[in-house]
Amino acid sequence: MLPHRGLDAARPFADTARMGAAHLTVDLDAVAANWRALDALSQPHVETGAAVKADGYGTGATDVARKLHASGVRSFFVAVASEGVIIRRAVGTDADIHVFSGHMHGDTDLLQQHRLIPMLNAPEQVARHFQSAPGHPFGVQLDTGMNRLGMERGDWDALKSELMDAGPRLVMSHLACADEPDHPMNAQQLHSFRTMTDGIAHRRSLAATGGILLGTEYHFDLVRPGIGLYGGRPFDDATPVVALSAPIVQTRIVRPFETVGYGNTWTANVESCIATISAGYADGLIRGLGSNGRVWAGDVPCPIVGRVSMDLITVDVTHLEEIPETLDILGPHQSVDDLADAAGTIGYEILTSLGHRYARHYEGAA
Ligand SMILES: *Cc1c(COP(=O)(O)O)cnc(C)c1O
Repeated sequence: MLPHRGLDAARPFADTARMGAAHLTVDLDAVAANWRALDALSQPHVETGAAVKADGYGTGATDVARKLHASGVRSFFVAVASEGVIIRRAVGTDADIHVFSGHMHGDTDLLQQHRLIPMLNAPEQVARHFQSAPGHPFGVQLDTGMNRLGMERGDWDALKSELMDAGPRLVMSHLACADEPDHPMNAQQLHSFRTMTDGIAHRRSLAATGGILLGTEYHFDLVRPGIGLYGGRPFDDATPVVALSAPIVQTRIVRPFETVGYGNTWTANVESCIATISAGYADGLIRGLGSNGRVWAGDVPCPIVGRVSMDLITVDVTHLEEIPETLDILGPHQSVDDLADAAGTIGYEILTSLGHRYARHYEGAA
């Protein structure tokens, strides 16, 4: 703890200037606990995989995948083939690694060398796969209304028997509105998926985190949660996974009518103590936080004032009795979703924006 000099201090606290990077803690035991909790929501015959794309939602794909593999996960999902290579290196040979973007031009070598399973999304991908990697495992992704990835109904009807003969490892689709349980799109997509796939002899998957929470009829043979593993909505019972704190670099007294930060967007009404912390939008703390974000000194909230800069955030700490060494950005009082709400975004974006400048610490590594 630094001594709090009070607002009547004659000069800024320049002599307390310190440096240091913000500190990110990833609790891998919490990731494993979240996976077990989500796994317990489906019936025992349903396999629970894990989406580890985008560097494990920003938390670190290698450590997360190792931990989940040690916890029993044998089906991983990534967005692109290069991410699959990292997961293969992390977990070894006895896991299925599925690539949502399918078999893209130029992917063949990576898919074969690392035994990745492309989820074929379109007739061109089917042709490419059967031509360039005959006999190599594949899955099929169907579009059931989201109109983002996956084979359209007409193409599926035309290719279905050929694909079924070749034996896909998984036939899947993705829900557009699963975080809104009452949204009619959920039942509509479930119906489309069933219409397209009922009666096939191959394993099926429809649910990510939101779909798991919709109930067992959405589970089919395999569920593939992402965000819930990392402690985010809509899995409200999740254990928090990330904690982030930033050191105070400097504090100063700002007098009435003085301004703080770029663009002079904040003006002191009263004499105020402003702390500058070492983290900014280059660390994923997006500028939108400037308007109503806050950080925490233990149990005490402290408003962010002025604009978030690339490497620094300014915080009003006038009300603190003592100035701490660090302020908490994510922690017991502020979840990923709380921060997302303050920034006008979603937990997914907060997590995947987490920067690489942080000193990272992994708890419970496998
Ligand atoms: C990202 C993704 C998932 C995981 O979704 P969450 O909402 O994070 O659980 C599952 N399936 C597909 C196709 C995805 O793109």
